[in-house]
Order: sequence, then C-alpha cells, then structure tokens
Amino acid sequence: MLIDGTAIAQEIQAEIKSEVNRLTGRRPCLAVVRVGEDPASKIYVSRKIKACEEAGIISRSEHHPNTITEHQLLGIVHKLNQDHTVDGILVQLPLPDSIDAIKITQAIDPAKDVDGFHPINVGKMLMGSTDGYLPCTPLGIKTLLERYSIPVSGKHVVILGRSNIVGKPLAAILMQNQPGCNATVTVAHSKTERLREVCLNADILIVAIGKPQFLKADMVKEGAVVIDVGINRLPSKALVGDVDFEHVQPKCSYITPVPGGVGPMTIAMLLSNTLKSYRQTQNSPQRYRGTEK
Ligand code: NAP
Repeated sequence: MLIDGTAIAQEIQAEIKSEVNRLTGRRPCLAVVRVGEDPASKIYVSRKIKACEEAGIISRSEHHPNTITEHQLLGIVHKLNQDHTVDGILVQLPLPDSIDAIKITQAIDPAKDVDGFHPINVGKMLMGSTDGYLPCTPLGIKTLLERYSIPVSGKHVVILGRSNIVGKPLAAILMQNQPGCNATVTVAHSKTERLREVCLNADILIVAIGKPQFLKADMVKEGAVVIDVGINRLPSKALVGDVDFEHVQPKCSYITPVPGGVGPMTIAMLLSNTLKSYRQTQNSPQRYRGTEK
C-alpha cells in the first residue's frame, strides 16, 4: 500500500488552519531568514511561506545577501528572539561558509526553535520530554506511521543514515517509551558490515542516505514497511528517492513514494511546531524566552 504523504500533510495543514481560524487575538507567526542565492533554499523557503499563508499562520520572511556577516545575522536572530509576536524562527540552511551555522542555530531561543536543532531541544528529545520541539522530518515520519496506524511498538526499525537532521533524531524518537514509539532501533551507516542482512531483519526500514535507488528488493523482508527519505535528482532531471521503488514496492506492506511521501510532511510539521510554540506562549506568557545576553 502506498503511503500518501501529500494527503496526510494536507489533512494536518487543514487541522492547523481550522485551529488558527478559531483563535481570537493575534495569530501564530513564523519568521524565516534566508541568506544568499542557494536555489534549493529559495524553493524550500517559498514552499514554507506558501504553506503558512494557506494555514493562516503569519510568515515574516527576510532575505539577506551572501555578504552578511555572522555578527549581523546573530543580531537578526537576537531581535527575533525578543519579538513577542514571533513564535517560530527558522534560519534556512545551508549558510555561506563565512558563517558558523552551529553558532546561529544555538543563538535561536530554544522556545522558538521550531526546526528542533537547538541543543536544548535535542537534549529534551533524547530524554523523552514533550515540551521541546522535535525536528520536522523525523517528526513527519513518526506522524505518517501513526496516521496509517502502522504498529511501531516492539517492531525492529532499521534506519539507514545517521545524520543529525534525520537518522540520529529519528532513532532517538522511535526508541522512546511513548505512544507511537517503543521500537527496537538499529542505526546503520556507511561503515555498517553485512548491511543487507541488517536490512533484511527490519520490520520497518527507513532510508535516509542520499544515494539514488540504493535500497534494492533483495535487502527487504517480505511485508516490511519502507520509508524513503531520500531526495535525489538524476542527470535525466527525474526526482528519485534512496529506494529502488519499482522493485521494492511489491515486497512491502507499506511504502512511501518520492516525491509525495516524507517531503510534504516536513513542512506540515514546521507549521505544527509553530502552532505548538504559539500555544505554549498563550498558556504561559512568562515562559523562558531569549538566550541572548
Ligand atoms: P547526510 O547528512 O548526507 O547523511 C547520509 C548518511 O547516510 C550518513 O550517515 C552516511 O553514513 C549514510 N550513508 C551513506 N552511504 C551509505 C551507504 N552506502 N550505506 C549505509 N549508509 C550510508 O544525509 P541527510 O541530510 O540525512 O539526507 C539523506 C537524504 O534525505 C538526502 O537525499 C536528503 O536530500 C534527504 N532529505 C529529505 C528530507 C525531506 O524532507 N524529505 C529532509 C532531509 C533530508 P556515514 O555517517 O558513515 O557517512
């Protein structure tokens, strides 16, 4: 069965819109900062802004030239941290080499870190605390599994890839003693030996390595669930995932397509985290804001 990420993302965005429409007073607001002329970043940011508009979330977008200094960008982040009408701050990566992306990520107020990359939120995620923000792509994958009622508890989840934005946080999330989690997780990477054997043991196989059509049918157990996170552009310009979809699909109980699988969920989770931040502010206006001195 095909997992329709576009449909689930639309469903979630409609739920967010309906909640935002019921709000009295100010609306939730996401600030998006883009630096330079990276074409992919331009597309991602415009999709995020469009999704905000459709859901009734205010988006405040800033675009700065490559020549902006780290100090200036830190100043912008600090200003947004202090702005009580801003619920979420997203600095689109990658940043120019002249700017330390880690420094910028750490300057964002953890209470507004809707990307979930700040070490405080990473720590909360690891500890299973629910008041932080989970990074959008792993959260989107967890949500897809939930919405399709795919059992995760007690299952063997094998994750290919250990990046800080997908593999590692996904492992940390799915291993928690929480609803929708409780998996037995194996994380594989480029040094993993007997990878085919490891994959064949998976009830749920999640592939996030950035290698076009890497996962072949002989690496997949009959009836497994396969989630393809990869986005790869072939020389032919075709967009493919990390899974050899055509040959893997017949063996799966569920599989995500590319495009239309995990991708749309990432944006839906960004909106969801922004609304979560808004709600937390409304419930506790005095909550800790601001990491700046
Ligand atoms: P990344 O930072 O490049 O990390 C790739 C990971 O894959 C590394 O851990 C690497 O292992 C592992 N790897 C590489 N070759 C391997 C192999 N032959 N066997 C096993 N593991 C291997 O990747 P990423 O940022 O997580 O992105 C992965 C893919 O997901 C990309 O195609 C990206 O575009 C896509 N993506 C999609 C979304 C979305 O919203 N749908 C979001 C984020 C990323 P080592 O650590 O040993 O090097």
